[in-house]
Amino acid sequence: MGLFEQPARGRVMKAMKFPEAGKAEIVEVPVPTPGPGEVLVRVKAAGICASDVAAFKGTHNFRRPPVITGHELAGEIERLGPDVAGRRVGDRVALEPHVGCGRCDYCRQDNYHECPDKRFVGVGDWIGAFAECLVATESMCHPMPARMPFEEAAMLEPFCVGLHAVRRAELRIGETVAILGVGTIGMMTLLAARCGGPGWTAVTDPSAAKRDLAIRCGADVALDPTRHDPAAAILEATGGMGVDVVFVAAAAPGVLEQAVNACRRMGRIVIIASFFTGGGVEARLLQQREQTVIGTSMYTGVDYRLAIRLWEQGCLAQFPALVTERIRLDQAPDAVAALAAGKLPDNIKTIIEF
Ligand SMILES: [Zn+2]
Ligand SMILES: [Zn+2]
Repeated sequence: MGLFEQPARGRVMKAMKFPEAGKAEIVEVPVPTPGPGEVLVRVKAAGICASDVAAFKGTHNFRRPPVITGHELAGEIERLGPDVAGRRVGDRVALEPHVGCGRCDYCRQDNYHECPDKRFVGVGDWIGAFAECLVATESMCHPMPARMPFEEAAMLEPFCVGLHAVRRAELRIGETVAILGVGTIGMMTLLAARCGGPGWTAVTDPSAAKRDLAIRCGADVALDPTRHDPAAAILEATGGMGVDVVFVAAAAPGVLEQAVNACRRMGRIVIIASFFTGGGVEARLLQQREQTVIGTSMYTGVDYRLAIRLWEQGCLAQFPALVTERIRLDQAPDAVAALAAGKLPDNIKTIIEF
């Protein structure tokens, strides 16, 4: 060791940590080291999701403090672990934030989003996107088109939730649609449905700003569920028939009953929202009307690759309109606290820029 050299010390980075429920702070933590088949990604843009806010509040079922969450991100590969063949330092990537065990039936059929042993970024010890760097497996990294901004690449994650829901619904050209709740996921479901050429499309949301945005994103009608019964309005607009497909994108009280009533006989009801408690569907009506209930959860690489193609074709030009605010990591604790306090009811997407 030379005279003026310091002993080798691990590098540190900034991150937003939830040390306990209701608390968010900026901390310094060691930069993680990528293992075999893994890469170190320098985060360039990260979106704040409702599940991050739930983790902050201590109400999320598996994202529990102390934790560094964040799973909507894009960045640049900074370091390769051993045995990485398909990625290079400097690659710009959108991150698919989960990985299956690779051995179970679901994983072997490429349905690793349902793997019982799958792991998520930003859960437990796995540092998430609210940090300057994180570790990911090579398979989680989807190369970004050269022209795609990092912010829009980070938005592919919630878009893929909507895209997967639309693919699960097997939505056909011209079919009528209702989307109950147009927060981020409902809005992304609307954008995904629009890619397939749906027929008449209604959305519901208590926020006037979100209803306006949904109209700009292609909805035909936007209803306020606090002012009138959305199912009755949808029935009236469809000549008493109901729509072909109802997407439930908000776990609001009474929303499943609205879905059953707004859906036509033999139609499909797609449940995207996470019902941590309750739920409960009117079994008698489902049976009599031969309605099909479809669950949908997350996405796989199939959705990411399709989403990137749709972006390249110009189908996702509304992405920037969905960004409500852009902040720095230092401002993120206040932003999360404001979202948790319900102070930003019109917020769609807060993006942290690095
Ligand atoms: Zn999310
Ligand atoms: Zn598995």
